[in-house]
Amino acid sequence: MKKTITSNDLKNLVNEAHAQVKDLKGGKNANYIPFLDKIDSNLFGISVCLPSGEVIEAGDTNYVFGIESVSKVYTAILVLRQYGAQAVLDKIGADATGLPFNSIMAILLENDHPSTPLVNAGAIMVKPVGNSEAKWKAITDNMRELSGSDLKLLDELYKSESETNFNNRSIAWLLKNYNRIYDDPDMSLDLYTRQCSLGITAEQLSIAAATIANDGVNPVTKKLIFDASLSPKITSLVATVGFYERTGDWLFTSGIPAKTGVGGGVMGIMPGHFGISAFAPPLDSSGNSVKAQLAIKYIMNKLGLSIFGSTRFTITG
Ligand code: GLU
Repeated sequence: MKKTITSNDLKNLVNEAHAQVKDLKGGKNANYIPFLDKIDSNLFGISVCLPSGEVIEAGDTNYVFGIESVSKVYTAILVLRQYGAQAVLDKIGADATGLPFNSIMAILLENDHPSTPLVNAGAIMVKPVGNSEAKWKAITDNMRELSGSDLKLLDELYKSESETNFNNRSIAWLLKNYNRIYDDPDMSLDLYTRQCSLGITAEQLSIAAATIANDGVNPVTKKLIFDASLSPKITSLVATVGFYERTGDWLFTSGIPAKTGVGGGVMGIMPGHFGISAFAPPLDSSGNSVKAQLAIKYIMNKLGLSIFGSTRFTITG
């Protein structure tokens, strides 16, 4: 079924979703990273970026928060760009673990590879080419290209996470034990921790999501960031494991592939339609933002849109 909506209708819907969800309670800030525990729990923003480059927003969409695991989507894109889809499939994989994001058990259960770049094990091992400096430059350049503007390191978050990331240190060295990490484990972990500590806004996140939804062309800068053939690969990775062990429930109820981070951000990709993001710090027990989930679901359900359905929208100006 084909439908037409105006960007004004969408604006009203985004405002409505914000108003409906704003005062709801539930969830708790991530407290295993002390910095995140201190962030104002009432912050809440929603941003939608259309293929035209128009950005529709409500609430705290310019607040800079820790990107955390949403950064895994960016680095997955980077290694897809550098090594190609087949190498990523062979060396890392594209399967859901069905287990929490930082699961040690998942590493023990896999015989050959970490299984996906979107859980901690895969993200710690996923690295661009070059020495540590070149890798960091590639990571931040790629993030800027996708988001349309620079992301800055939140030093306090980086320090806080580096001082407490004992589980991730175990993951890095366990991967080494099984010959499943291709770089020095400590360097890989440090780069991962730094990328998770980059600050991003909901607006930037929606632009990056829209770049994926728009076949690799950033709708705001109009630049081709990656080959269109990679878009469905990235979206499939996100669809498979974006909400970790809650991914099936999420897809069933929202209809949109999306990736969460313990900083409270969620990035959703509706191919050909839009990129959407929402941000609110309190999380459910799997580490997914409670309000961001409710807001995105509200919008998807009101639109009657699902990646698995046949309804398609034309959004007019
Ligand atoms: N840096 C966080 C960690 O490794 C990211 C987790 C997440 O956002 O899901 O624990």
